[in-house]
Amino acid sequence: MATKPSEPAAQTLNRGGAFLTAACTPDDVFTPADLTDDQRLIGRTAEEFVAKEVVPNIPELEQHKEGLMAEMLKKAGELGLLGGAIPEEYGGAALDKVSATILAEKLAGYASFAVSHGGHAGIGTIPIVYFGTEEQKTLFLPKIATGEKLACYCLSEPQAGSDALAARTRAVLSPDGKSWILNGQKMWITNGGFADVFTVFAKVDGEKFSCFIVEKGTPGFSVGAEEKKMGIKGSSTVPIFFENAAIPKENLLHEVGRGHIVAFNTLNVGRFSLGAYCLGGAKHVLAAASKYAKERTAFGKSISEFGLIKAKLGEMAIRIYAVESMIYRSAGMVSAAVAEPKSGADKTQQAMQVLEEYAIESSISKVAGSETADYCVDEAVQIFGGYGYHEDYPVARAYRDSRINRIFEGTNEINRMLIIQMLMKRAMAGVLPLIPAAMKLADEVLSGPSFEESPSGAFAEEERSLAQAKKIFLLAAGSAVQKYREQLSDRQEIVAALANIAMDVYAMESSLRRAQKSSAVRGENAGALSDAARVFVYDAMDRVEKEARAALAATVDGDTLLTQLAVLRRFAKHSPLDTISMRRRIADAVLAQDRYPFEGR
Ligand SMILES: Cc1cc2nc3c(=O)[nH]c(=O)nc-3n(C[C@H](O)[C@H](O)[C@H](O)COP(=O)(O)OP(=O)(O)OC[C@H]3O[C@@H](n4cnc5c(N)ncnc54)[C@H](O)[C@@H]3O)c2cc1C
Repeated sequence: MATKPSEPAAQTLNRGGAFLTAACTPDDVFTPADLTDDQRLIGRTAEEFVAKEVVPNIPELEQHKEGLMAEMLKKAGELGLLGGAIPEEYGGAALDKVSATILAEKLAGYASFAVSHGGHAGIGTIPIVYFGTEEQKTLFLPKIATGEKLACYCLSEPQAGSDALAARTRAVLSPDGKSWILNGQKMWITNGGFADVFTVFAKVDGEKFSCFIVEKGTPGFSVGAEEKKMGIKGSSTVPIFFENAAIPKENLLHEVGRGHIVAFNTLNVGRFSLGAYCLGGAKHVLAAASKYAKERTAFGKSISEFGLIKAKLGEMAIRIYAVESMIYRSAGMVSAAVAEPKSGADKTQQAMQVLEEYAIESSISKVAGSETADYCVDEAVQIFGGYGYHEDYPVARAYRDSRINRIFEGTNEINRMLIIQMLMKRAMAGVLPLIPAAMKLADEVLSGPSFEESPSGAFAEEERSLAQAKKIFLLAAGSAVQKYREQLSDRQEIVAALANIAMDVYAMESSLRRAQKSSAVRGENAGALSDAARVFVYDAMDRVEKEARAALAATVDGDTLLTQLAVLRRFAKHSPLDTISMRRRIADAVLAQDRYPFEGR
């Protein structure tokens, strides 16, 4: 990262959500080309582990062979693939965010394994790392790092999923004050069938939301039968039950009444990684679709020669490129902020604060990652035709497995709401200069079209589109906030439209800066990677305009609406681009390698 955090401009740039207002250069943005040899090695180790140890066992894992997934996780532990989030003094690898991201991405060769890994090494581990006492950390983390003890995270209940704080599970202190007595039920617990350590959320005295560590074998604690799921069938998902289950008093995690802090900070980490697992999964189906398209013939030629098949392969690669650009950019920002020396600050606490800072980017990673993966599995099934619908071929499973990602770790609806809620909160607190930026834009609109200096160079049109898309966000968000104020959260469709614009802005900028950085180094301006950035920015601009139009029409009316729409049209204008030819060129790059063509670039 070339930014110097001590400079005021850089400080703004390094704030979560700052992409909507601050300008950045290609050098400010971390890209996969910046991965160190060590980070690439972590990725290769993870990929080889899944290919050699996990993939041969898929048929039995899908049949839920007793103990097999736990065995896979323990093997991963032997290789050091479970302790990424754990500090070294507790036996972990203390991976930086970029390393953790490539690790998650490359474990995605089998979705059920990726989900089990995330349930253990992510959301199952993080609560103890961030909030555990010294004794709790010493007792649990070394064994969690090796896989000797497997972990899980127990927040959801039958009546409380998105609305997690409506949990009914209760905890009361025993009359002798030595234990907590838990009663209630949790649902959908990933790894619950074989886990040893359960992070459980319950309300003390039915009121104060709190968090506890429960160990397997606790009397009164039991695990229900495996749920019959649509996909990720190799993973364990069970309900768990507490009937006067007594756990030691010292197993309270963090403080009574502060369980929500544990829950939400943990999900924040989980969401980020979920995007990375989805990215890895999407790359796998693209590779499978490319190979199949070349082998399959119809009408006397390989189906890969048909324009409509190329369009699919090209679009899959473009969307993967955009999501990869965002996720690694965010990971780079987190890594840089955590690495920044802070006198007296505990490294773990600093990491948690940094992740909180980038909670908007974490939600974007989750939503964009899961929707890109779903798009890719759907198109992969289409490329396989009837065989895509057959369980003997790999994409049918990928299709079923992918669907959960839009649901867990906060549904995509909830995450869209969160993106805007967090942006607004930061704007109101003056952390993000969204209000001055919106006021400046209002002045600009009033004074009519300006004759600002136009961007020049190879990506001039994309540069202009990006700047205009940021203005469109301010235009639509400014109008909506002015009209609805505190009631904006009740206008969910408008909020979602704003979130979609914000996500596209982040994707446009991340894709463009990566292409510019790559072009500067490799001089590959005409290459497929640049094409991917150009097509993405072009299409995103159309989406941004459409979302803003809908949001404005639901916000203002009459002459005000007509004026706003005229401004929107002016901002959204972009020169035509032959995206069909460019998408074909990208598809050819996929077909030449039978995989995602911009790996590590
Ligand atoms: C396979 C699997 C594994 C899981 N693993 C775990 C785990 O390890 N630990 C754990 O604690 N949980 C886990 N979950 C639970 C998961 O996190 C929840 O299913 C999820 O949070 C959604 O909650 P819900 O199912 O109750 O749906 P609901 O909350 O009832 O949502 C139903 C629909 O309503 C929408 N909705 C809800 N509230 C709003 C709102 N305010 N505004 C707009 N729309 C809204 C949702 O987006 C969704 O579309 C898992 C679930 C599954 C299926």
